[in-house]
Amino acid sequence: MTTDAPVAAATTAPTLPILSHWIDGHPVEVLPEQTGPVFDPATGQVIARVPRGGAAEVDAAVRAARRAFPAWRDLPLIARSQIFFAYRELVWRHREELAALITRDHGKTFPDALAEVTRGVETIEFACGLPVHLAGLNTPNVSTNVDAFTLRQPLGVAVGITPFNFPAMVPMWIYPIALACGNTFVWKPSSHTPGATQLQAELWQQAGLPDGVFNIVYGGREAVAALVEHPDVDAIQFVGSTPVGRYVYETGTRLGKRVGSYTSAKNAMIVLPDADLELTADAAVASGYGSAGERCMAQTLVIAVGETADRLRPLMLERITGLKVGPGMEPGMDMGPIYSAEHRASIVEWIERGVAEGAELVVDGRPFHHPEHPDGFFLGVSLFDHVTPEMAIYQEEIFGPVLGMVRAATYDEALALVNAHKYANGTAIFTTDGGAARRFKLEVTVPMIGINVPIPVPAGYLSFGGARQSAIGDLAMRGEDGVRFFTQQKMVTERWPEPGRKAALSLVFPGNS
Ligand code: NAD
Repeated sequence: MTTDAPVAAATTAPTLPILSHWIDGHPVEVLPEQTGPVFDPATGQVIARVPRGGAAEVDAAVRAARRAFPAWRDLPLIARSQIFFAYRELVWRHREELAALITRDHGKTFPDALAEVTRGVETIEFACGLPVHLAGLNTPNVSTNVDAFTLRQPLGVAVGITPFNFPAMVPMWIYPIALACGNTFVWKPSSHTPGATQLQAELWQQAGLPDGVFNIVYGGREAVAALVEHPDVDAIQFVGSTPVGRYVYETGTRLGKRVGSYTSAKNAMIVLPDADLELTADAAVASGYGSAGERCMAQTLVIAVGETADRLRPLMLERITGLKVGPGMEPGMDMGPIYSAEHRASIVEWIERGVAEGAELVVDGRPFHHPEHPDGFFLGVSLFDHVTPEMAIYQEEIFGPVLGMVRAATYDEALALVNAHKYANGTAIFTTDGGAARRFKLEVTVPMIGINVPIPVPAGYLSFGGARQSAIGDLAMRGEDGVRFFTQQKMVTERWPEPGRKAALSLVFPGNS
């Protein structure tokens, strides 16, 4: 049997069960009155119920993680790494099952969900090399008979609090690194898209991860508060909206925890007059409307320089006309529904706001309704032109399939706009001029940059993180920064005198000679 064969077919999503917390290696069932609904956004029907956990469940999960910590920390690195190789294989074999579960309650298309799992796997693969990532520096002979070296050690119990929009990839950017570094883990997923969560815990168990090392607690505000305030939690990575991320960061750090919050975004791509506009139109439409615009790296503002907008706009319209919107499991769809009815209503309000602010609504997605799924949370794509920096639709994150075209007279004006925006997650430039692209990557103050690449998510072995109001904290997620985040570095200075050497008392501050 080849280990590459996926275990489930793409065409049928399994029925979701009533979900349970996962604590100390076991599902923990809850009473129906302690649960909330999970929707299939393509039909608007309730398809499962998700627990509303609180302080008691959080405490049980953190205690399990604390109990499991010493043995997991002390497991030899090669043994730890082998569990990661096994987990990687299992996730890869179950990738279609995971993707179908994601599509079922998120709504994104099945190929998009499959791509999400694949990008998550990249970070698991990085974590397989943990013995190398945890290596320290070793400097022999810094002084007579004295050597210096560094150690990287785990912090203890780590927590991941994750958003609805990437139910597998974003957690897979957090927990592999936390666990590889020797921490135990409690995951608080989004209650909107919990379908693919428990399978990840079951696959860890099959891979040989000891009970208690990986735990899941579902819930909302109460569960998050209990995690952030728990005295036995040492580190938290939060991914979600800026206000919640700020609360998690401020509360957690005040209590002495290490916290990183990776938060909201409004990304802009600059298009120079020399750009290949066919490629640029593909990129803008794919980036702006893929996953219904519910990606923190989507470029939802297109800043066209000079007369470029007049040439780019018809090319974008051609592509928009051909987009197919429908259930994510239906083959050939470009875009699925919005993940919730409330979020759909909020996007509609943003479109109304844009019209009231005076932007030109070139394509209006509001009238779209799916003929076979009238109760689904579907919305068509919208395109605004003549968006200006004073408008709220320019400044704020909409997180839906709404693209705004902005017209700038010069490259300098476009760059100044990108650098002045309160959000700074990702950005891009479209040009055929290597010198202009080079200048952009040196001058732009947004950390994740695409050159003719519209969704510049760094590869899984690199770090991921924004700036300004798109990230709160000093270190990015995953990659080298992730290893730094989830470890404490110790600096050891060690003397082993020559055999037979006599002690010589000196009260002088020790020098290195
Ligand atoms: P959200 O902030 O509503 O939820 C994130 C997490 O916080 C969830 O687990 C949720 O249950 C919890 N939560 C929600 N409200 C809370 C509250 N009042 N108190 C305590 N906890 C609360 O975010 P979302 O809607 O799930 O996700 C979309 C947001 O995430 C967007 O702003 C998007 O830009 C951002 N995002 C950022 C990145 C990044 O890397 N910067 C990646 C993905 C998504």
